[in-house]
Amino acid sequence: MKTSDFRDVFVRVQSDLLIIDDSIMTDRHHASNGNYEDTDPQNQIGGIIPAFSPSGWLRHGMEKAVHERDGTVCHPGEANANFRKDGVYNRDLDAGYHPKGDCLEDEGGDGCVIHDLFGGFGNRPGKVMRRPIRFSPIRSSVDYTRGQAEGHYRRLNRNIVSRNREDNREPLRNTEVDAVANLDGAWHLSFREAKPEFIALLAAGIDYLDAHQTDFMHQLGGARNFGGGIVDCELMNPLYEKSELRRVFDRGKGNTKRMDAKDDEWADECLPELQSALTERVEHVS
Ligand SMILES: [Zn+2]
Ligand SMILES: [Zn+2]
Repeated sequence: MKTSDFRDVFVRVQSDLLIIDDSIMTDRHHASNGNYEDTDPQNQIGGIIPAFSPSGWLRHGMEKAVHERDGTVCHPGEANANFRKDGVYNRDLDAGYHPKGDCLEDEGGDGCVIHDLFGGFGNRPGKVMRRPIRFSPIRSSVDYTRGQAEGHYRRLNRNIVSRNREDNREPLRNTEVDAVANLDGAWHLSFREAKPEFIALLAAGIDYLDAHQTDFMHQLGGARNFGGGIVDCELMNPLYEKSELRRVFDRGKGNTKRMDAKDDEWADECLPELQSALTERVEHVS
């Protein structure tokens, strides 16, 4: 096993409804020929989900996976921010976080594994690149091997109603939110350096998120009280060839024998080796 073979990995993400506020970019102006109807289910609008929200979601899952191994990680907020005065910050420091960047002082310079992966201190880049997810409603045009997804763009209308009883719950205003329905695809992550503990932590973080997919804290994006952002997720076997990766999304076909053999190899040989590197690294810091 060469970890450098795992520089590019894919996470399968499936969600009935994803609401990423205003940040979904669509190609509706091209797709519509000038007569685009938001609400027409026949519209063939695709777009891009920027990586910001998925990245925060992933990071949180990976933080939890470090906590489960009794390690601490960088607090996501700046140590000099106002919330440092806040009780929440101190509570977080008791619950598995250290002030951002503190780990750089006593390690070999890479800091804790979360800092190493996500960077963000000074102009230090993270070592995992989170790519945007391009989606399209037309499955035949989705290239899963390039980190794309099938997804159906929807514009939802939400009435913000008054909470004053005297107002009789009259709508105060109407807002429109961008949503992607029935998302199913592959999120492409690239490691600038493929350390074994990175891949193990990614696998563990994704497992954690999948197991906690209905926890408010671990849903993705907005409208969480209304079932938005519940994500089924799974690290796709990094040993798969492109054609095998594609086959996973083909509902008419199951695994080949070769894919089953690779699943066993991954679970029984690769992952345990990567996991011991993670255990060693987490123990080393705390
Ligand atoms: Zn740290
Ligand atoms: Zn959490």
